[in-house]
Amino acid sequence: MHDIVLIPGDGIGPEITKSVTTILDAAGADINWIKCTAGLTAQEELGNPLPDETLDAIKKYRLALKGPLTTPIGAGFRSVNVAMRKKFELHSNIRPAKTLPHIESRFDNVDLVMFRENTEGLYIGKEQWVKENSHAESIAVVTREASEKVIRSAFEYAKKKNRKKVTLIHKANILKFTCGLFMEVGEEIAKDYPEIEYEDLIVDNMAMQMVLQPEQFDVIVTTNLFGDILSDLASGLVGGLGLTGAANVGDDAAMFEAVHGSAPDIAGQNVANPIAFLLSALMMLEHIDENDLADRIRQAVYLTLEDKSVCTPDIGGSGSTTAFTEAVVKNLNK
Ligand code: ATP
Ligand code: MG
Repeated sequence: MHDIVLIPGDGIGPEITKSVTTILDAAGADINWIKCTAGLTAQEELGNPLPDETLDAIKKYRLALKGPLTTPIGAGFRSVNVAMRKKFELHSNIRPAKTLPHIESRFDNVDLVMFRENTEGLYIGKEQWVKENSHAESIAVVTREASEKVIRSAFEYAKKKNRKKVTLIHKANILKFTCGLFMEVGEEIAKDYPEIEYEDLIVDNMAMQMVLQPEQFDVIVTTNLFGDILSDLASGLVGGLGLTGAANVGDDAAMFEAVHGSAPDIAGQNVANPIAFLLSALMMLEHIDENDLADRIRQAVYLTLEDKSVCTPDIGGSGSTTAFTEAVVKNLNK
């Protein structure tokens, strides 16, 4: 039995969470869900968008499946999501992009996984005016320690999943210190994995290669800002953000979440697409080595995508969240 913290989240969060837990339970996942709250829901219920009970539960169980969260105005920090990543030192943001059957996209054989450094780079928030309204500057930080963590995670993932190649993305020709260090660490770590091919590419070339020939990439690792941009690009290659799962992984905890927001415009209407969140939950199952279970659910999803009458409107269907969920459950045993 796995104890996993479950945070349904705001907006469409509760609907897609219900869908995901229904499917996982029907598939026989041996999970004890520890239900917690955060975000706007927690602010309204408990007067705190990031309650201690929730933080304590994640600290204790070390695994969380988290719906989209809205950060209330005046919460005292920019984002509940970012605060949680910092608190649990979730150094690697992992986003697979894989072509789905029966979903319109520009490429047929994309199957890549992007590792994005999640704690530093240009995201540390060290910005200032040198002269108000006319001269601004921002500082990027790259450390050996954080670089090693994300790069090693990428190689370990490649090894575990039998992947063939790791591509490191940088701009070391211009950013000689920050990107230079990141690249140097990559070259060092690659030596520990002689069975995995290693290459590096400059980010502008990468942007072009990804739209010309994305099939050539396998595991990719990069710094925070490049990873932010390229992982959305990767999602676009396979049909968009609504079809992309994500994980934030640290040494002591991991949090799985959809990449889309709380979509308040469609909340409560039973039209939210649960696929992205479900793919995140499958990443979680793989993280706890429930690979067969994850595969079985993935196959059921693929089968369900064939029938547009049960799919949600955002992917051209005429169905609903619950119709899709029921169909996946039915397809689990096919
Ligand atoms: P937030 O402030 O939490 O980011 P948002 O409305 O910006 O909320 P996004 O995810 O950025 O949420 O949504 C952008 C658009 O995509 C919205 O119109 C939303 O309805 C749609 N959308 C997002 N997620 C889904 C989903 N799972 N299924 C269907 N439509 C979605
Ligand atoms: Mg948004």
